[in-house]
Amino acid sequence: MNTEVRVNAPQPVDMLELLPRYSRASGLGRVRWVASSNESTIPPSSAVQAAVAEATAHGNHYPSLFGEELAHAIAERFELGDAQVVVGPGSLALLQQALIAFTGAGTEVVYGWRSYEAYPMLVTLAGAKSVQVPLDDAHRYDVDGLIAAVGPNTRSLIICNPNNPTGTMLTQEEVQRILDAVPKHVLVILDEAYREFTDADHDAVGWITEYSNLAIMRTFSKAYGLAGLRAGYLISNAGLSAAVQRTLPPFSLSATASAAALAAWNDLEHTAKIVDIASQERDRLQSNLRALGVDTPPSGGNFVWISAPTSARRLEELCVHEGVAVRAFDDAGVRITTGNADASDACVRAVTALIAERGSVEYL
Ligand SMILES: *Cc1c(COP(=O)(O)O)cnc(C)c1O
Repeated sequence: MNTEVRVNAPQPVDMLELLPRYSRASGLGRVRWVASSNESTIPPSSAVQAAVAEATAHGNHYPSLFGEELAHAIAERFELGDAQVVVGPGSLALLQQALIAFTGAGTEVVYGWRSYEAYPMLVTLAGAKSVQVPLDDAHRYDVDGLIAAVGPNTRSLIICNPNNPTGTMLTQEEVQRILDAVPKHVLVILDEAYREFTDADHDAVGWITEYSNLAIMRTFSKAYGLAGLRAGYLISNAGLSAAVQRTLPPFSLSATASAAALAAWNDLEHTAKIVDIASQERDRLQSNLRALGVDTPPSGGNFVWISAPTSARRLEELCVHEGVAVRAFDDAGVRITTGNADASDACVRAVTALIAERGSVEYL
């Protein structure tokens, strides 16, 4: 495709040149298993499918302005006011709106790196500058480094917990240490896309009243298994939530997404099943990888990280050769979504082949 912009034509804004692109999994279409996007390995429940069909039958009408029914159901379970919950077409969309509402030109957004690849893109889109704090040697967010990176222009700090793609988690105390250290005018966004896969017993939602600068993001894409239907939510105090909502285009959440999310929200059994399948398989895959000596940090997500700074792309190729699409990050490693035992075993074969090629597990 010719993407050259002609002189005598509309010119995209300069910022577009700076935007990183979201990566794609390679090998799609040729592989037997897709373990590259942290999706659920089982389809939505029949209750969700019926709710979507019902919503489609009324598809000639606009949905509610801001997904009020879904927001109410979420607020009710957490014993919050409806105005504290913002719903939108995926939590990424809500992150974008929060960054538009609270950052912008001349401001900085601090987050750990490597982390979710959408962050640099959304920060740039909001006109702000990314300040990336390297993960520590255990592939975890560096708490002191993050606190030290907050400067006079910082308007937001993002904590991805568990971290995508490494799966590593900060403890309740560590998150609280950041919240206590950061000035109150800095919006702390806690991205908990994978919270349901962790065994954490503390719920950060309880912190909302204590920390007036905290917003929590969660999604229906992972544990609720609705990645294709696009629904997520943000929880904060009513003031911050209202600001995020004001930047959302009206009718952003489709009637089908809203109906699906509501049905999934009430189908606790199906969500528990998705979580059980992914986390049991995660633990089994990690113990098989550790038996080979592979550096794979404890994961709280529905995925496993293999640190392979010099051979990430080669490992991806070998996985594709074994029939599995995975996500490789250059000079860093490979992330494998868990939930299918055959796919995991195929990845273990790929890792075994890589170790043989390299001569030692030390040199991945
Ligand atoms: C998958 C994921 C999301 C979810 O994005 P949606 O837009 O809700 O699908 C958000 N944050 C992280 C870190 C993720 O991995």
